[in-house]
Amino acid sequence: MIPFINLKREPEELNEKIINAIKEVVEEKWFVLGEELIKFEDEFSNYIGTKYGIGVNSGSDALFIAIKSLGIGKNDEVITVSHTFISTVDAICRNNAKPVFVDIDPATFCINAQLIEDKITNKTKAIMPVHLYGHPAEMDLIMEIANDYDLFVVEDACQAHGAEYKSKKVGGIGDIGCFSFYPTKNLGAYGDGGIALSNDEELTQKMKMLRNYGQREKYNHEFMGVNSRLDEIQAVILREKLKHIDKWNENRRKSAKIYEKVLSNLDLCLPIEMRNTKHVYHLYVIRCKERYKLQKLLLDNGIETQIHYPTPIHLQKPYLKAVRKSQLLETIRACDEILSLPMHPWLTEEEINFVGELIKCHV
Ligand SMILES: *Cc1c(COP(=O)(O)O)cnc(C)c1O
Repeated sequence: MIPFINLKREPEELNEKIINAIKEVVEEKWFVLGEELIKFEDEFSNYIGTKYGIGVNSGSDALFIAIKSLGIGKNDEVITVSHTFISTVDAICRNNAKPVFVDIDPATFCINAQLIEDKITNKTKAIMPVHLYGHPAEMDLIMEIANDYDLFVVEDACQAHGAEYKSKKVGGIGDIGCFSFYPTKNLGAYGDGGIALSNDEELTQKMKMLRNYGQREKYNHEFMGVNSRLDEIQAVILREKLKHIDKWNENRRKSAKIYEKVLSNLDLCLPIEMRNTKHVYHLYVIRCKERYKLQKLLLDNGIETQIHYPTPIHLQKPYLKAVRKSQLLETIRACDEILSLPMHPWLTEEEINFVGELIKCHV
Protein backbone atom coordinates (compact mmCIF):
# COMPACT_ATOMS: atom_id res chain seq x y z
CA MET A 1 0.00 0.00 0.00
CA ILE A 2 1.45 3.34 -1.05
CA PRO A 3 -0.80 6.22 0.04
CA PHE A 4 -0.82 9.43 -1.99
CA ILE A 5 0.51 11.30 1.03
CA ASN A 6 1.55 9.88 4.39
CA LEU A 7 1.66 12.34 7.27
CA LYS A 8 2.03 9.45 9.73
CA ARG A 9 5.69 9.46 8.72
CA GLU A 10 6.28 12.87 10.27
CA PRO A 11 9.15 12.14 12.67
CA GLU A 12 8.31 11.15 16.24
CA GLU A 13 10.71 13.76 17.71
CA LEU A 14 8.76 16.44 15.86
CA ASN A 15 5.47 15.14 17.26
CA GLU A 16 6.91 15.44 20.75
CA LYS A 17 8.18 18.97 20.18
CA ILE A 18 4.81 19.99 18.81
CA ILE A 19 2.85 18.40 21.65
CA ASN A 20 5.04 20.29 24.13
CA ALA A 21 4.54 23.55 22.25
CA ILE A 22 0.78 23.04 22.20
CA LYS A 23 0.88 22.28 25.94
CA GLU A 24 2.47 25.66 26.55
CA VAL A 25 -0.31 27.40 24.67
CA VAL A 26 -2.89 25.43 26.63
CA GLU A 27 -1.27 26.54 29.88
CA GLU A 28 -0.88 30.13 28.75
CA LYS A 29 -4.58 30.25 27.69
CA TRP A 30 -4.05 32.92 25.04
CA PHE A 31 -5.45 31.48 21.83
CA VAL A 32 -6.07 34.19 19.25
CA LEU A 33 -3.88 37.09 18.01
CA GLY A 34 -1.03 36.47 20.43
CA GLU A 35 2.76 36.40 20.64
CA GLU A 36 3.15 33.11 18.79
CA LEU A 37 1.31 34.42 15.75
CA ILE A 38 3.53 37.50 15.66
CA LYS A 39 6.63 35.29 15.89
CA PHE A 40 5.41 32.99 13.15
CA GLU A 41 4.48 35.91 10.90
CA ASP A 42 8.01 37.25 11.36
CA GLU A 43 9.67 33.91 10.79
CA PHE A 44 7.65 32.95 7.72
CA SER A 45 7.90 36.37 6.05
CA ASN A 46 11.63 36.25 6.78
CA TYR A 47 11.86 32.83 5.21
CA ILE A 48 10.15 33.98 2.02
CA GLY A 49 11.86 37.37 2.05
CA THR A 50 9.13 39.94 2.67
CA LYS A 51 8.81 42.56 5.37
CA TYR A 52 5.36 41.61 6.64
CA GLY A 53 3.11 38.62 7.15
CA ILE A 54 -0.59 38.47 8.04
CA GLY A 55 -1.66 35.10 9.43
CA VAL A 56 -5.21 34.10 8.52
CA ASN A 57 -7.51 31.10 8.67
CA SER A 58 -6.75 29.56 5.28
CA GLY A 59 -5.11 30.08 1.94
CA SER A 60 -8.53 30.89 0.53
CA ASP A 61 -8.93 33.71 3.04
CA ALA A 62 -5.43 34.99 2.32
CA LEU A 63 -6.37 35.29 -1.37
CA PHE A 64 -9.74 36.89 -0.61
CA ILE A 65 -8.27 39.41 1.82
CA ALA A 66 -5.41 40.19 -0.57
CA ILE A 67 -7.80 41.10 -3.40
CA LYS A 68 -10.01 43.10 -1.04
CA SER A 69 -7.08 45.03 0.42
CA LEU A 70 -6.16 46.21 -3.09
CA GLY A 71 -9.61 47.76 -3.47
CA ILE A 72 -10.53 45.40 -6.29
CA GLY A 73 -14.27 44.90 -6.66
CA LYS A 74 -17.25 45.47 -8.90
CA ASN A 75 -16.47 46.18 -12.57
CA ASP A 76 -12.84 45.21 -12.10
CA GLU A 77 -11.12 42.36 -13.88
CA VAL A 78 -8.39 40.09 -12.61
CA ILE A 79 -6.31 37.95 -14.96
CA THR A 80 -5.67 34.41 -13.79
CA VAL A 81 -5.84 30.75 -14.83
CA SER A 82 -8.62 28.20 -14.97
CA HIS A 83 -6.23 25.31 -14.28
CA THR A 84 -5.98 25.79 -10.51
CA PHE A 85 -7.77 25.05 -7.26
CA ILE A 86 -11.14 26.79 -7.01
CA SER A 87 -10.05 29.24 -4.29
CA THR A 88 -7.94 31.30 -6.69
CA VAL A 89 -11.02 32.20 -8.70
CA ASP A 90 -13.40 32.36 -5.73
CA ALA A 91 -11.19 35.05 -4.19
CA ILE A 92 -11.83 37.24 -7.23
CA CYS A 93 -15.56 36.53 -7.50
CA ARG A 94 -16.29 36.85 -3.80
CA ASN A 95 -14.99 40.40 -4.19
CA ASN A 96 -17.47 40.89 -7.06
CA ALA A 97 -14.68 41.25 -9.60
CA LYS A 98 -14.48 39.26 -12.82
CA PRO A 99 -11.90 36.56 -13.49
CA VAL A 100 -10.38 36.69 -16.96
CA PHE A 101 -8.74 33.41 -17.87
CA VAL A 102 -5.46 32.94 -19.66
CA ASP A 103 -4.37 29.54 -20.92
CA ILE A 104 -1.50 27.64 -19.34
CA ASP A 105 1.94 26.77 -20.58
CA PRO A 106 1.61 23.01 -21.16
CA ALA A 107 5.16 22.39 -19.94
CA THR A 108 4.83 23.98 -16.49
CA PHE A 109 1.03 24.05 -16.04
CA CYS A 110 1.40 27.70 -14.93
CA ILE A 111 -0.04 30.78 -16.65
CA ASN A 112 1.31 31.33 -20.17
CA ALA A 113 2.66 34.82 -19.54
CA GLN A 114 2.95 35.49 -23.29
CA LEU A 115 -0.84 35.50 -23.51
CA ILE A 116 -1.53 37.95 -20.68
CA GLU A 117 -1.16 41.24 -22.55
CA ASP A 118 -3.91 40.26 -24.99
CA LYS A 119 -6.42 40.01 -22.15
CA ILE A 120 -5.73 43.39 -20.57
CA THR A 121 -8.57 45.92 -20.78
CA ASN A 122 -9.16 49.24 -19.06
CA LYS A 123 -10.92 47.26 -16.32
CA THR A 124 -7.96 45.03 -15.52
CA LYS A 125 -6.64 45.65 -12.02
CA ALA A 126 -4.43 42.68 -11.22
CA ILE A 127 -2.71 39.54 -12.42
CA MET A 128 -2.95 36.46 -10.23
CA PRO A 129 -0.40 33.81 -11.19
CA VAL A 130 -0.57 30.41 -9.48
CA HIS A 131 2.69 28.57 -8.81
CA LEU A 132 0.94 25.32 -9.51
CA TYR A 133 2.23 22.01 -8.19
CA GLY A 134 5.21 23.88 -6.70
CA HIS A 135 6.61 25.21 -9.99
CA PRO A 136 7.12 28.99 -10.22
CA ALA A 137 5.18 30.98 -12.80
CA GLU A 138 7.22 33.15 -15.17
CA MET A 139 7.52 36.08 -12.79
CA ASP A 140 9.90 38.35 -14.75
CA LEU A 141 7.49 38.73 -17.63
CA ILE A 142 4.47 38.95 -15.31
CA MET A 143 6.08 41.74 -13.25
CA GLU A 144 7.14 43.55 -16.41
CA ILE A 145 3.60 43.51 -17.81
CA ALA A 146 2.20 44.56 -14.43
CA ASN A 147 4.62 47.49 -14.39
CA ASP A 148 3.80 48.55 -17.92
CA TYR A 149 0.04 48.53 -17.33
CA ASP A 150 0.08 49.55 -13.67
CA LEU A 151 -1.49 46.35 -12.40
CA PHE A 152 -1.16 44.61 -9.05
CA VAL A 153 0.28 41.12 -8.82
CA VAL A 154 -1.16 38.69 -6.27
CA GLU A 155 0.73 35.41 -6.19
CA ASP A 156 -1.15 32.25 -5.30
CA ALA A 157 1.77 30.41 -3.70
CA CYS A 158 -0.46 27.96 -1.83
CA GLN A 159 1.40 25.03 -3.40
CA ALA A 160 4.85 26.56 -3.51
CA HIS A 161 6.37 27.21 -0.06
CA GLY A 162 10.09 27.60 -0.73
CA ALA A 163 9.94 27.44 -4.54
CA GLU A 164 12.29 29.90 -6.23
CA TYR A 165 12.29 32.03 -9.35
CA LYS A 166 15.78 33.36 -10.14
CA SER A 167 16.85 32.76 -6.54
CA LYS A 168 13.89 34.70 -5.14
CA LYS A 169 11.28 32.77 -3.23
CA VAL A 170 7.86 32.91 -4.84
CA GLY A 171 5.18 34.62 -2.82
CA GLY A 172 7.65 37.42 -2.16
CA ILE A 173 7.86 38.83 -5.69
CA GLY A 174 4.44 40.39 -6.38
CA ASP A 175 2.51 42.95 -4.32
CA ILE A 176 1.00 40.23 -2.14
CA GLY A 177 1.85 36.53 -1.85
CA CYS A 178 -0.65 34.05 -0.43
CA PHE A 179 0.08 30.70 1.20
CA SER A 180 -2.07 27.90 2.59
CA PHE A 181 -1.09 25.75 5.56
CA TYR A 182 -3.69 23.08 4.91
CA PRO A 183 -2.24 19.86 6.43
CA THR A 184 -1.09 18.34 3.12
CA LYS A 185 0.73 21.42 1.78
CA ASN A 186 4.53 21.59 1.80
CA LEU A 187 4.18 23.42 5.11
CA GLY A 188 1.06 22.14 6.82
CA ALA A 189 -0.70 23.02 10.07
CA TYR A 190 -2.80 20.59 12.12
CA GLY A 191 -5.97 22.15 10.76
CA ASP A 192 -6.60 25.11 8.50
CA GLY A 193 -4.27 28.07 8.21
CA GLY A 194 -2.87 30.60 5.76
CA ILE A 195 -0.83 33.77 5.42
CA ALA A 196 -0.59 36.80 3.14
CA LEU A 197 2.82 38.43 2.67
CA SER A 198 3.73 41.91 1.54
CA ASN A 199 6.43 44.55 1.64
CA ASP A 200 3.89 47.38 1.74
CA GLU A 201 3.11 48.76 5.17
CA GLU A 202 -0.23 50.26 4.22
CA LEU A 203 -1.50 47.10 2.54
CA THR A 204 -0.35 45.11 5.55
CA GLN A 205 -2.28 47.37 7.93
CA LYS A 206 -5.35 46.99 5.78
CA MET A 207 -5.07 43.20 5.64
CA LYS A 208 -4.56 43.04 9.41
CA MET A 209 -7.78 44.98 9.86
CA LEU A 210 -9.64 42.92 7.25
CA ARG A 211 -8.85 39.67 9.06
CA ASN A 212 -10.14 41.17 12.30
CA TYR A 213 -13.64 42.54 11.51
CA GLY A 214 -12.24 45.69 9.91
CA GLN A 215 -11.16 46.95 13.32
CA ARG A 216 -8.38 49.46 13.79
CA GLU A 217 -8.69 49.02 17.50
CA LYS A 218 -11.34 47.27 19.56
CA TYR A 219 -14.90 48.16 18.51
CA ASN A 220 -13.78 50.82 16.05
CA HIS A 221 -14.67 49.35 12.65
CA GLU A 222 -13.40 51.31 9.67
CA PHE A 223 -14.76 48.94 7.05
CA MET A 224 -16.37 45.55 6.81
CA GLY A 225 -13.96 42.76 7.47
CA VAL A 226 -14.05 39.08 8.33
CA ASN A 227 -13.00 36.85 11.19
CA SER A 228 -9.92 35.08 9.90
CA ARG A 229 -6.93 34.74 12.21
CA LEU A 230 -4.24 32.07 12.43
CA ASP A 231 -4.64 30.85 16.01
CA GLU A 232 -1.84 30.37 18.55
CA ILE A 233 -1.97 26.57 18.47
CA GLN A 234 -1.52 26.48 14.69
CA ALA A 235 1.18 29.16 15.00
CA VAL A 236 3.34 27.07 17.38
CA ILE A 237 2.88 23.98 15.20
CA LEU A 238 3.93 25.92 12.11
CA ARG A 239 6.91 27.46 13.93
CA GLU A 240 8.21 23.97 14.72
CA LYS A 241 7.58 22.68 11.24
CA LEU A 242 9.08 25.71 9.46
CA LYS A 243 12.49 24.57 10.79
CA HIS A 244 12.21 21.49 8.59
CA ILE A 245 10.74 22.82 5.38
CA ASP A 246 14.01 23.09 3.41
CA LYS A 247 14.89 19.50 4.24
CA TRP A 248 11.40 18.31 3.31
CA ASN A 249 11.47 20.20 0.03
CA GLU A 250 14.88 18.65 -0.69
CA ASN A 251 13.38 15.21 -0.05
CA ARG A 252 10.58 15.97 -2.50
CA ARG A 253 13.14 17.07 -5.09
CA LYS A 254 15.13 13.86 -4.57
CA SER A 255 11.97 11.80 -5.00
CA ALA A 256 11.21 13.67 -8.22
CA LYS A 257 14.70 12.81 -9.50
CA ILE A 258 14.12 9.13 -8.78
CA TYR A 259 10.74 9.19 -10.52
CA GLU A 260 12.44 10.87 -13.46
CA LYS A 261 15.04 8.13 -13.65
CA VAL A 262 12.57 5.24 -13.59
CA LEU A 263 10.01 6.89 -15.85
CA SER A 264 12.31 8.25 -18.55
CA ASN A 265 11.97 7.13 -22.17
CA LEU A 266 8.33 6.12 -21.80
CA ASP A 267 5.33 7.41 -23.68
CA LEU A 268 4.42 10.00 -21.06
CA CYS A 269 5.37 13.54 -20.06
CA LEU A 270 7.19 14.14 -16.80
CA PRO A 271 7.26 17.41 -14.84
CA ILE A 272 10.02 19.78 -15.82
CA GLU A 273 11.92 22.43 -13.93
CA MET A 274 12.44 25.55 -16.00
CA ARG A 275 15.89 27.16 -16.04
CA ASN A 276 16.46 29.57 -13.15
CA THR A 277 13.66 28.07 -11.09
CA LYS A 278 13.43 25.74 -8.14
CA HIS A 279 10.46 23.39 -8.17
CA VAL A 280 9.30 22.13 -4.75
CA TYR A 281 7.09 19.33 -6.07
CA HIS A 282 4.03 19.88 -3.93
CA LEU A 283 2.63 17.44 -6.48
CA TYR A 284 4.35 15.17 -8.98
CA VAL A 285 2.11 15.35 -12.02
CA ILE A 286 2.66 13.30 -15.15
CA ARG A 287 0.71 13.45 -18.41
CA CYS A 288 -0.30 10.27 -20.11
CA LYS A 289 -2.81 8.69 -22.42
CA GLU A 290 -5.59 6.58 -20.92
CA ARG A 291 -5.06 8.24 -17.59
CA TYR A 292 -7.99 6.51 -15.85
CA LYS A 293 -6.77 3.09 -16.99
CA LEU A 294 -3.34 3.78 -15.50
CA GLN A 295 -4.92 5.12 -12.33
CA LYS A 296 -6.92 1.92 -11.93
CA LEU A 297 -3.92 -0.31 -12.58
CA LEU A 298 -1.98 1.52 -9.88
CA LEU A 299 -4.86 1.38 -7.43
CA ASP A 300 -5.29 -2.36 -8.03
CA ASN A 301 -1.70 -2.61 -6.84
CA GLY A 302 -2.28 -0.49 -3.76
CA ILE A 303 -0.95 2.79 -5.13
CA GLU A 304 -3.06 5.88 -4.58
CA THR A 305 -3.03 8.66 -7.16
CA GLN A 306 -5.11 11.79 -7.60
CA ILE A 307 -6.05 14.24 -10.35
CA HIS A 308 -5.31 17.94 -9.86
CA TYR A 309 -7.72 18.94 -11.28
CA PRO A 310 -10.16 17.00 -13.44
CA THR A 311 -12.39 19.98 -14.36
CA PRO A 312 -11.10 23.46 -15.14
CA ILE A 313 -12.64 26.20 -13.01
CA HIS A 314 -14.34 27.94 -15.93
CA LEU A 315 -16.37 24.76 -16.47
CA GLN A 316 -17.37 24.41 -12.82
CA LYS A 317 -21.00 25.08 -12.06
CA PRO A 318 -20.69 28.47 -10.32
CA TYR A 319 -18.66 29.88 -13.21
CA LEU A 320 -20.18 28.26 -16.27
CA LYS A 321 -22.35 31.18 -17.21
CA ALA A 322 -20.00 34.01 -16.43
CA VAL A 323 -17.08 32.86 -18.50
CA ARG A 324 -18.46 30.50 -21.09
CA LYS A 325 -16.48 32.01 -23.92
CA SER A 326 -13.02 31.20 -22.61
CA GLN A 327 -10.88 29.38 -25.18
CA LEU A 328 -8.44 27.45 -23.10
CA LEU A 329 -7.21 24.58 -25.21
CA GLU A 330 -4.09 23.70 -23.22
CA THR A 331 -6.06 23.89 -19.98
CA ILE A 332 -8.63 21.44 -21.26
CA ARG A 333 -6.03 19.14 -22.75
CA ALA A 334 -4.09 19.06 -19.47
CA CYS A 335 -7.18 18.18 -17.46
CA ASP A 336 -7.67 15.09 -19.62
CA GLU A 337 -4.10 13.83 -19.30
CA ILE A 338 -2.78 14.61 -15.84
CA LEU A 339 -2.20 12.16 -13.04
CA SER A 340 -0.60 13.01 -9.68
CA LEU A 341 1.65 10.23 -8.35
CA PRO A 342 2.35 9.72 -4.63
CA MET A 343 4.53 12.56 -3.32
CA HIS A 344 5.53 13.58 0.19
CA PRO A 345 8.83 14.12 2.04
CA TRP A 346 9.08 10.57 3.39
CA LEU A 347 8.57 8.55 0.24
CA THR A 348 11.25 5.82 -0.07
CA GLU A 349 13.29 4.91 -3.12
CA GLU A 350 11.75 1.40 -3.05
CA GLU A 351 8.26 2.86 -3.14
CA ILE A 352 9.08 5.11 -6.08
CA ASN A 353 10.70 2.24 -7.95
CA PHE A 354 7.64 0.07 -7.32
CA VAL A 355 5.34 2.77 -8.74
CA GLY A 356 7.71 3.27 -11.66
CA GLU A 357 7.93 -0.42 -12.57
CA LEU A 358 4.14 -0.72 -12.62
CA ILE A 359 3.79 2.33 -14.85
CA LYS A 360 6.41 0.85 -17.19
CA CYS A 361 4.30 -2.27 -17.58
CA HIS A 362 1.31 -0.18 -18.60
CA VAL A 363 2.65 2.41 -21.01
C1 LIG B 1 -4.77 24.80 -1.22
C2 LIG B 1 -4.91 25.87 -2.22
C3 LIG B 1 -5.65 27.03 -1.98
C4 LIG B 1 -6.55 27.19 -0.78
O1 LIG B 1 -5.96 27.02 0.45
P1 LIG B 1 -6.89 26.59 1.69
O2 LIG B 1 -5.96 26.77 2.85
O3 LIG B 1 -7.25 25.16 1.48
O4 LIG B 1 -8.04 27.49 1.74
C5 LIG B 1 -5.65 28.02 -2.93
N1 LIG B 1 -4.98 27.90 -4.08
C6 LIG B 1 -4.27 26.80 -4.36
C7 LIG B 1 -3.52 26.74 -5.66
C8 LIG B 1 -4.21 25.74 -3.45
O5 LIG B 1 -3.52 24.64 -3.75
